[in-house]
Formats: sequence, structure tokens, C-alpha cells
Amino acid sequence: MSHSGFFGEYGGRYVAEVLKQPLEELEQAFSSALSDTSFLQELQDIGQDYIGRPTPLMPAHRASKATGGADIWVKLEGLANTGAHKINNAIGQALLAKRMGKTRIIAETGAGQHGVATAAACARLGLECVVFMGAEDIRRQRPNVHWMTLYGAEVRPVETGSQTLKDAVNAALRDWSARWGDTHYLLGSALGPSPFPDMVREFQSVIGKETQIQAAQAQFQPDALVACVGGGSNAIGFFSPWIDQVHPLLIGAEAGGRGRGVGAHAARMDGEGQKAVAQGYKSLFLTDEDGQLQATHSISAGLDYPGIGPQLAHLGQSGRIQFQAIRDDEALEALQFFARHEGLIFALESAHAAAAALHIARELGPGKSVVVNMSGRGDKDVFITGSALGGETWGHFLSDETRRFEARKEGQK
Ligand SMILES: *Cc1c(COP(=O)(O)O)cnc(C)c1O
Repeated sequence: MSHSGFFGEYGGRYVAEVLKQPLEELEQAFSSALSDTSFLQELQDIGQDYIGRPTPLMPAHRASKATGGADIWVKLEGLANTGAHKINNAIGQALLAKRMGKTRIIAETGAGQHGVATAAACARLGLECVVFMGAEDIRRQRPNVHWMTLYGAEVRPVETGSQTLKDAVNAALRDWSARWGDTHYLLGSALGPSPFPDMVREFQSVIGKETQIQAAQAQFQPDALVACVGGGSNAIGFFSPWIDQVHPLLIGAEAGGRGRGVGAHAARMDGEGQKAVAQGYKSLFLTDEDGQLQATHSISAGLDYPGIGPQLAHLGQSGRIQFQAIRDDEALEALQFFARHEGLIFALESAHAAAAALHIARELGPGKSVVVNMSGRGDKDVFITGSALGGETWGHFLSDETRRFEARKEGQK
């Protein structure tokens, strides 16, 4: 847990006066829920019945053999319902909101993954759901808008500023400060003002706790754990049982994008991140000369974010977690490697962890073991992997699909 909202010097609650009371209320409700066995039981039941927990821990025999190093194991979080770990947090917070008597959930989303998880959790639990999304992001991420709408959520376009994630965050905070009586703000990663970093870690810690039990059942002790780091929720949840120990090695894979240089990547922990306060918390952020948040780049939408959760920033600086920047091309290569050797298609985010896992497996050598968290599966990335790997035929498919769409519309007239 944080110490009054801080992890070392990072974290805190840097918000407008109007948000202090709802955050206070949330902190109390969260801490009382954590000691309520009926809440914890409900969380476990829905984890099992709806999310599909526990997710498997799979020995990757062929990948390990081909790498010639340590044994590689994969935690298959991508098998969770909706395809990624984000549902763990969405369900946890939605249940908590219900317990608090809230009837309406709001969320911010950038690429749409968190919006999809939130919309699904609200549909499952019978809560009204409004997702704030930048108008530009809505244009770029139509498939996720489609899923959110199908789950019955309202996707509300944000037309201010750059019409992207940070504008969606601001719009969600504005809504919350006006309506927190009946509304919970369901934040998507282990960041933002306290108590969100503690709360999101707690709801994602199920990944690490299961892994610990599954590794013991399979009679091995991991020598290294590897996860990708966007805001940091899958990583901190996966690492959480081991944070206060010296072993195993904990490795966070960040988006190295196209390489060094402003705007080319989203690697905050290899010296380029600057201390700053933004979006309600203090952490390391990629900023420009004026101290404004930088535009970042990653082939994976989920890692394309200028900040990092405060606990990860702290554990990175203390040396407990090591960070590696993995470039777009390395992630794509690891994705193909696991597809061919294990029949697993990693999400592009998780493929960064896969690449880092292959590095560390070679480094540690035979007789050791590495567990990589596959935070999500790659079906959602078909438009990116299709263009990157499918060649001309993928382009033909897309234009044919447009023609088929027009023909279907004609046929309906
Ligand atoms: C959103 C997302 C991430 C990044 O978010 P974290 O909070 O850093 O876990 C990673 N993997 C997948 C599959 C995602 O959808």
C-alpha cells in the first residue's frame, strides 16, 4: 500500500478542491470493501463465472527450446473474457461502485480498450455507462466504439483540445465533480490521484497471486517476471506478491517505438522521463521543453502514454524493477515467434513483454525460469498486424471489404 497516497516521492492527490470529497469517499469505501468477506467472495465468484479465472500458466516448451535459454512460462491473461487484463479492474471497481450505491459509471478511454472493459463490466452488473473518448480517437478506433455501443454504453465524443485521451480524462473529471453523488469514475490504469493506484493494483493483483500458486503447483520458482508497462496496471498486479522481496527479477517492458527522439517512443524510465505533476498525480512523464506532455508513439495503443504509474516510477528508481525499451519491430518479431512456436498471438502491448522475456531467457540460460504476462491476445490488432505483415493482399482485402459494405447497403434498399 502507499503511504498516504505516496510511493516514495511519487503519487499523491493533486486535484481541484471539488474532487477531494469524492476521492476521500472512494478511499474509505475501498478500504472497507477489502475487509468485507462477502465483497471479496462476490469478486471471486464473478472472476470465475464471468472473467474465466484462473487464467492458465502455460509452459512454453517449444519457444524455450528454440531460444536455448531459461524455461519460459506464459500467464495467459489474454484468455480472460474481453481478451485482456483490463476486465479485472473494471469488474472490481464496478462492484465497488455498486456497493457504494452508485448507479452510473463513467470512464475515459484512449484507444478504447479500457472503454470496452468498462462497458462490458457495466452490462454484466446492470450499471449505466458513459465513456468519454476524444473525437479524434473515435475516428481512429471505430471497432472499439462498435463494441462499447453493443454493450449498451454511451460513447461521448470530446471535442476539446487535441480530441484525444488527455481531453477525455479532463471531461470525465469534470463530469465526476458535478455528479459524484450517483456516479463512480472508473479509472483504467494504476495511476491518477490516490486511491486509484492502490485500488487498481489490488484488483489486478489476482494475476500475480494466481501465478504464485500455479508456479508452486508446477514446482518451480520464477527467476524473472516480465510484463509490459503502459500506465502499469498489468505489471504492478502481476509483480505485486514479489515487490517486497529481493527475488525474482522484475522486468517492465516499455514502448521503444521507432527508437530515440521526442515523439518516437513512450519509454519514460530509461532516463527521458521528467518529474512532473499531471492528471492528478506526481510521477515521471515524457514532456517537451515547455513542460507539456509529449506526443508519444508506439505500435501498440496501450503503451502509447506519456506517464507511468507512481509505484512503478518509484520501484524503477529504487532498482527493484528494471525497465527495457522494446522497439516496434522487436515486438512484431516476438509476436510472430510465439505465434509460430506456441500457437499464441500476443496483443501488441504484451508482445513487448514477450520480446523482453526472450532477451532475459537467453541471458539467464538453461535451468532458470522466466514468466511473461500475456496481458492480452492479439485479435484486436488485426488492422495493424494485417498491414505490417500481410503485404499487398491485406490492402486488397480492405478495399474489397469496402465494396462489399456498399453492396450490402445497396441490397438493403
Ligand atoms: C491497456 C493495455 C495494456 C497497458 O496498460 P497497463 O495499465 O500498463 O497494463 C497492456 N496490455 C494490454 C493488452 C492492454 O489492453
